Amino acid sequence: MSRIYNFSAGPAVLPEEVLKEAADEMLDYRGCGMSVMEMSHRSKMFEEIINTAEADLRDLMGIPSGYKVLFLQGGASQQFAMVPMNFMKNKVADYIITGQWAKKAFSEAKLYGVANAVASSADKTFSYIPDCSDLPISENADYVYICENNTIYGTKFKTLPNTKGKPLVADISSCFLSEPVEVEKYAMLYGGAQKNVGPAGVVIAIIREDMITEEVLPGTPTMLRYKTHADAASLYNTPPAYGIYMCGKVFQWLKRKGGLEAMKEYNEKKAKLLYDFLDQSQMFKGTVEKKDRSLMNVPFITGDADLDALFIKESKAAGLENLKGHRSVGGMRASIYNAMPMAGVEKLVTFMEDFEKKNCRKP
Ligand SMILES: *Cc1c(COP(=O)(O)O)cnc(C)c1O
Repeated sequence: MSRIYNFSAGPAVLPEEVLKEAADEMLDYRGCGMSVMEMSHRSKMFEEIINTAEADLRDLMGIPSGYKVLFLQGGASQQFAMVPMNFMKNKVADYIITGQWAKKAFSEAKLYGVANAVASSADKTFSYIPDCSDLPISENADYVYICENNTIYGTKFKTLPNTKGKPLVADISSCFLSEPVEVEKYAMLYGGAQKNVGPAGVVIAIIREDMITEEVLPGTPTMLRYKTHADAASLYNTPPAYGIYMCGKVFQWLKRKGGLEAMKEYNEKKAKLLYDFLDQSQMFKGTVEKKDRSLMNVPFITGDADLDALFIKESKAAGLENLKGHRSVGGMRASIYNAMPMAGVEKLVTFMEDFEKKNCRKP
């Protein structure tokens, strides 16, 4: 068996320890004679799995008791609709446009009410986070929406926007559990698991209880109401049980690693190694304003499409996979989530150094 270093933006690398544990428990989960995939979601066994997962997540993030934790399906993309369907009481919401995912959420919200783009970084290909200290927040906005870490462009909000008292909703898909979060500052945070938390198929939503009401837009399906899932403790229907089990294992792994403070420190070290290299390189260049750089997704270019293509081909052959940038921006992108070990980033940087030496244009 040989494993590659997987720099994919998602589905992404998972901790090897977690995968091994899951393999060990595959045929016979803790003496029950079946796998987690085969057990009833109403069984004692599974109840313990989901309850432990929730308790560990609450512990890791310091989620206050006035917030619900929901395990949902439909991908992060389904939240683009669920958020307005559940929260647009006045049918007005303000969106900060910092990339494709925010744009998609914004377009979806327009199906349900008036969505305003109150700030955008589209003018410079989303290479920065706009100043959000004094935005024209709508008087009757039901919420202000951000995509906190922009997976495709590699930017992250280092300070949250001033929402002028309006509830803040954040898509944290690609920075989930990468560092400590002040949950109290948000009305809702959510993310698809497949970036930094677990396998695809699970979406985790953390919602302040006063936001979860019966009062949703007319026609909102039962399955798309937060209240349905909150009232049933995420067991209204069959949940993505195996995915939740895997997320639970990642939560325990994170606790063993020292929690989110320790992860932040580790992630900063990994990112620094790569960014420092980019900053001194004659060939490679980071594409994001330094102050807004993501710890998780690091896009970079050579400025020469042929060289980019050669880099992607040769890095793959060297066991460094999925370094191709998003199809909408080109170039390269290294996603260095929690489970990417330092050794992977070291190998990448060494490879980039060698590549630069080999391919530098002779003066
Ligand atoms: C990947 C991603 C999404 C889309 O996730 P799906 O689960 O595929 O719907 C949304 N937002 C962000 C920030 C992402 O990185």
